Amino acid sequence: MLKLNLAALDREEVEIHEQVAADDPMWEGSDVRLVEPLQVDLTARSVGDDGVLLRGRIQATVERECRRCLTAVRQPVDDTVDLFFAPIGEDEDELGGEVYPLPARGQELDVTEAVREQLLLRAPQYVVCEEECRGLCPRCGTNLNETACDCVSEVAPSPWDALKQVKFD
Ligand SMILES: [Zn+2]
Ligand SMILES: [Zn+2]
Repeated sequence: MLKLNLAALDREEVEIHEQVAADDPMWEGSDVRLVEPLQVDLTARSVGDDGVLLRGRIQATVERECRRCLTAVRQPVDDTVDLFFAPIGEDEDELGGEVYPLPARGQELDVTEAVREQLLLRAPQYVVCEEECRGLCPRCGTNLNETACDCVSEVAPSPWDALKQVKFD
């Protein structure tokens, strides 16, 4: 698990080298699919009075559907991250930036949620398999990258076509 012993941090830097399985419960509720484990490499150190900074790298391969043809598209995520944890109190606004709450007097710091958020931030939101992707035929659903369908030779479909098919009783 992505947890840190805070007591150990008082004396030295602590490294986290973990893999999070693609089917780990931490991904539930997100629309990101991992095709291999997430690699997390972080070094934690104390900052200031009671802040904790984890700096390092996250690497994963995520899979999303092409927005036009729904083919699964794999995209690498490989980036550096800075996760800053601090006690969040009345001066919350002054901290600015991305600050995660540090539990008061906890023995362990669970960084799972922060890592999850950072990966989701870096996962591409809009994916196309290729710029020229022709998508699916709006009428018959044929993948137009693979084959043509008869609909194509007809009048180009307009957004109104779908409305014409709506029947009001
Ligand atoms: Zn596509
Ligand atoms: Zn068609």
